[in-house]
Amino acid sequence: MHRRLLFHPHCALRWLLCFLALAGASVALASSGDPAAPANRTLDVTHASAGPLTLTPWFDVLEDSSGALSFEQIRSPDIAARFTPSGRSGTALNFGITPSAWWLRLRLANPGDGALDRLLEVAYARLSHLDFYAPQSDGTWQHLHTGTTQPFDSRGYAHRNFVFGIALPAHAEPTIYLRIASTTAFVVPARLWEPAAFHAFERSDYAAQAWYFGMVGAMVLFNLLLFLRLRDWLYLQYVGFALSVAFAMAAQNGLVKELLQLRSPLWSDLCTSFGYCFSIASGTLFMRRMVEAPRLLPRLDPWLKGFIAFYFLSPFLFLVTGQALIKPMAVGYILAIAVVLSVAAYSAWLRQRSAYFFLAAFTLVCLGAAVYALHAIGLMPTNLLTANAIQLGSTLEMILLALALADRFIQMRRERAAMQKTMIDTLRHSEQRLQERVAERTMALEEANRRLEALSRTDGLTGLANRRHFDEVLASEWARSQRSGAPLALAMIDIDWFKAYNDHFGHLGGDDCLRSVAGLLAKCAARSSDLVARYGGEEFAIVSPHTTGAQMQSLLKELQRALAVLALPHPSTPSRCVTLCAGVAAHTAQSGDVAENLVAAADQALYQAKLAGRNAVVLA
Ligand code: GH3
Ligand code: MG
Ligand code: MG
Repeated sequence: MHRRLLFHPHCALRWLLCFLALAGASVALASSGDPAAPANRTLDVTHASAGPLTLTPWFDVLEDSSGALSFEQIRSPDIAARFTPSGRSGTALNFGITPSAWWLRLRLANPGDGALDRLLEVAYARLSHLDFYAPQSDGTWQHLHTGTTQPFDSRGYAHRNFVFGIALPAHAEPTIYLRIASTTAFVVPARLWEPAAFHAFERSDYAAQAWYFGMVGAMVLFNLLLFLRLRDWLYLQYVGFALSVAFAMAAQNGLVKELLQLRSPLWSDLCTSFGYCFSIASGTLFMRRMVEAPRLLPRLDPWLKGFIAFYFLSPFLFLVTGQALIKPMAVGYILAIAVVLSVAAYSAWLRQRSAYFFLAAFTLVCLGAAVYALHAIGLMPTNLLTANAIQLGSTLEMILLALALADRFIQMRRERAAMQKTMIDTLRHSEQRLQERVAERTMALEEANRRLEALSRTDGLTGLANRRHFDEVLASEWARSQRSGAPLALAMIDIDWFKAYNDHFGHLGGDDCLRSVAGLLAKCAARSSDLVARYGGEEFAIVSPHTTGAQMQSLLKELQRALAVLALPHPSTPSRCVTLCAGVAAHTAQSGDVAENLVAAADQALYQAKLAGRNAVVLA
């Protein structure tokens, strides 16, 4: 967009010059009546002060629409009479893009007694064909044929614009002729200079150019380094844009022709168009990325891409079609400016930050172009500022865009910092959640372990401690009894005639009976220090610390009584109810003694109880 702005001013400038100059100048002429049309159409050069003299009002002009008239023909009385005063007062004579050749006639007079030298400057470097005719003292005519299509050394005076030396002998009244035909806009800002004044102006003019291109060079180098360091393609796009603009400016100013000594007539004539088109394309490319068009303007973005591709490729059409496209492309440049301005304005409307910079930069270049155009049609004074207004606008534009890049860099750094903070917060949060879940899982695992551990010590049928648990408790209580000297009692219990019970009630009935007896056992040995275990089959055991044999014996008697009260039917016992036998042993464990002896003693007592006829408790 920026690009467009820049080149646009040039091309647009031509067009602005075409339209504004025609409109503006004619308005100026019409309103002021007689702007500066001199009554006596001979210019007395001795009246000229140290500054340049604008020649626009002094020209007589003749349009040669066929372009076929020769120098001799236009001096023949009938054609010479068709020259009319230019009627213009601005800095430049401007006829827009015209296929005609134009003859300009200028009558000069040196009424003084001394010979004078003057320089005629046409400060527009893009004229395709320019013929200069001046009478010489020997009566012949000096003829220079130059223009962008001619080699640079065809110019009598080596300068980026067209400069011709005019010798004015004492009392001479020479008539100078210029024939101009151009495929680009017909813009002739002609001025007459005293040589010393022109040389002073020339130095400051080239210094201004050097300042401009030096600034662009610095911007290009700096952003190229940024690109190499940051690997952000935006910086390279800026470099491409700045180079395109600089090339367009240099072509527009005649510096490309002067420095590169271009010899191809077509290329010399077209290099400015290439500069403009590449400026538009690379500027739009840069803007598209800057305002994040793919994200911000998703529907418009494909059109922007097509627009960019068109302006990148269109210069090559020139090579095929020659200069025929120059006029439609000039309209294309103005359209491009409108498109770029609209996209920038719309992005700014959507509060896209970079778009503000673009709008400001665009406005500056447009302002520069407007000032230049106003100066060209004489509505603003000609000075270093107005004459270089486009380059000044372009300089400010590039600086603004570099600021936009810096701003974008800062913005991105802020966004990255914010993103990092969010990421760190998220990480912290998920770490915390992970810790919580690990804690939950650990608790669940410990609970499961506890349950598994309990299961591994429990008898599945009766819910009492199993044999494994019994062995552990017996060993630890035995050791404790050894340490404390407290008595430890053990009862081995066996249900009577249980095989027969099973035979009668079936194994499921037997299981029910085992559960009932186990429930009774647990109820009777209710002390927390007592352990009731299923020893195996229909045999149970009670381990009871701090208990004597007699105490244990009475507990078992109680159990027998409770079983009798429960009166589980058993067809094979004398009482017709389930009964049991128990062998009780109680010891104070001695050193060297082992727990197995206690078990063996209780077992022996149980055996005695069975022998005694069952339903009995025997103390070992
Ligand atoms: P005694 O009075 O001499 O102790 O006679 P008994 O029939 O009770 O003796 P024995 O040791 O010969 O029989 C024990 C029976 O217990 C044999 C077996 O079928 C039964 N038994 C062992 N474990 C279980 C069990 O878990 N469920 C059931 N229903 N029966 C069992
Ligand atoms: Mg048994
Ligand atoms: Mg038994």
